[in-house]
Amino acid sequence: MNRRDAVKLVIRTGGAALGISAMTGALSGCASSRRPGLGTIGDPIPDDPSVARAPTRVEPWVGPPTTTTPPAPLPSPSISGVISRSHWARGAPRPWLADPMNGIRHITVHHDGMSPFTNSTWGGAAHRIEAIRNAHTGKGWADIGYHYVIDPGGRIWQARPLELQGAHVKSANPHNLGICVLGNFERQRPTNAAVQSLENLIASEMRRLRVPLSEVRTHQELAATACPGRALQARMNSTRSSGGRLRRV
Ligand SMILES: [Zn+2]
Repeated sequence: MNRRDAVKLVIRTGGAALGISAMTGALSGCASSRRPGLGTIGDPIPDDPSVARAPTRVEPWVGPPTTTTPPAPLPSPSISGVISRSHWARGAPRPWLADPMNGIRHITVHHDGMSPFTNSTWGGAAHRIEAIRNAHTGKGWADIGYHYVIDPGGRIWQARPLELQGAHVKSANPHNLGICVLGNFERQRPTNAAVQSLENLIASEMRRLRVPLSEVRTHQELAATACPGRALQARMNSTRSSGGRLRRV
């Protein structure tokens, strides 16, 4: 969760309850519970005691601050074929709601943790990513929480701009690049195409951003969560082990 997001929300609403809700709701999309089969986008987190107090709708932040310093631009990923967010997002990021990334030191892998997803079409993926963005921005966040999304067909989609700190690992968002693979890998296996693209993307970003393999993690290695699911966790374990694809980067 972006700490600054929460501060802005409290200021805007004047309600401490909303601020608490924004903080504890930080893991939507890849839920914090170890229980598999959590609900669809927008469902409250079952363990979240603040859900009942939270308003159903967050008023949008309507104006940029006057003191924001634009973060330094990052070069484009060296991997080819990343689909720009203009191809799927129906709303622009709200950078004034996020802290700047100020350098990337970690990479964290997620699943979306919703219903199993096997649709390998462009449109199907775009629709699901936009639904996640809607859920996240509906909480008052700057944008979708992850920086990249990978679909079952192996496409790589640009999500939150890399210049902005993500919202994907509670208490560990600073300098942390978030990659989400669409699907629920407690309940399904990732496609080989998705895993191959994930490995290619991670390898590319490790080289480009000089992130060591020891800083390539999964969500469950940083927090109490089932994310990215048993099946994707196994693939991540394999690719980082001796002889694995990422070990050779
Ligand atoms: Zn996650």
